[in-house]
Amino acid sequence: MNPELKKLPAKIAQLPKAELHLHLEGSIRPEVARALASRCGEEISTEEIIRRYAYKDFTEFIETFKWVTSYLRKPESFGLLAVDVCEQLLAQNVAYAEITLSVGIMILRGQDPQENFEALLAATEPYEKRGLYINWVFDAVRQFGADAAMEVVEWAHRCKSRRIVAFGIGGDELSIPTRELQRVYNRVGEYGMHRLIHAGEIGGPEKIREAVELLGAERIGHGIGAIHDRELMDMLKERGITLELCPVSNVKTGALERQMGEGAELAGHPFPKLFRHGIPVVLSTDDPAMFHTTLTREYELAAREFGFTDEELVGIVENGFRYAFGEAR
Ligand SMILES: [Zn+2]
Repeated sequence: MNPELKKLPAKIAQLPKAELHLHLEGSIRPEVARALASRCGEEISTEEIIRRYAYKDFTEFIETFKWVTSYLRKPESFGLLAVDVCEQLLAQNVAYAEITLSVGIMILRGQDPQENFEALLAATEPYEKRGLYINWVFDAVRQFGADAAMEVVEWAHRCKSRRIVAFGIGGDELSIPTRELQRVYNRVGEYGMHRLIHAGEIGGPEKIREAVELLGAERIGHGIGAIHDRELMDMLKERGITLELCPVSNVKTGALERQMGEGAELAGHPFPKLFRHGIPVVLSTDDPAMFHTTLTREYELAAREFGFTDEELVGIVENGFRYAFGEAR
């Protein structure tokens, strides 16, 4: 058994899990970064990469993120990364994942998203025989604007794959007014894809409300800003809008302190309050390699810091499958 899993209550460790908020580009472990750089003709030691991953603040984190993802230049490199991600997921008893792909960045870098996506499918489909099913979310960058986001939607449509289950938007949630994205999400609906967006990570509850009311978002990336608005919490519960909660990420990016006040620590994360309010929530990692976390670690911390009972943890594990857009098959 993976030694990490032994840190979980046995009952939770053995359950198959789903991971619904996971960025491929945030999953580059130092060993993989070394291999990716090497393919670009740069020899960098793993030690040097580990040093760069130990950033002190958000600015340094963004710099490292840009630097390491710049080595994702060819379809084969995406494939290599996806194989490692699948191995990491299998080692943690993950049976199903919806992985977010930053197609907005591929377009910016002049890459062919379809070629990259085909390499990803070729790398991940063999894992189905081993009990791991992957679906994909095509993701746009909010600050690039509505036209650029529309291009991502069109690529998702053009790739014609049942494995692309949703369209999402990440990046700076305070940049473009939500209303400007309405036409993009209308197109997403026409193409029959599910609707996702990062909101209420650093933004207030109004960002989440707008995402649901103007864009028809079915799941919200993070959404921790909901904690400040009781009526919104009721609405999320009644409409069954899922919040994809990534506690370690919120600590590392400073989002938790922005929402809950300076000095806020993991134990002060709104996760237990949102969960006990009856809002559908799932537990995820966001950018596990960048934030030095894993799904197993998130469960371990949820048990310890949020005081969840085994029964509550089982409920959270089940939510991962219940609120998935696709199925483990
Ligand atoms: Zn995210």
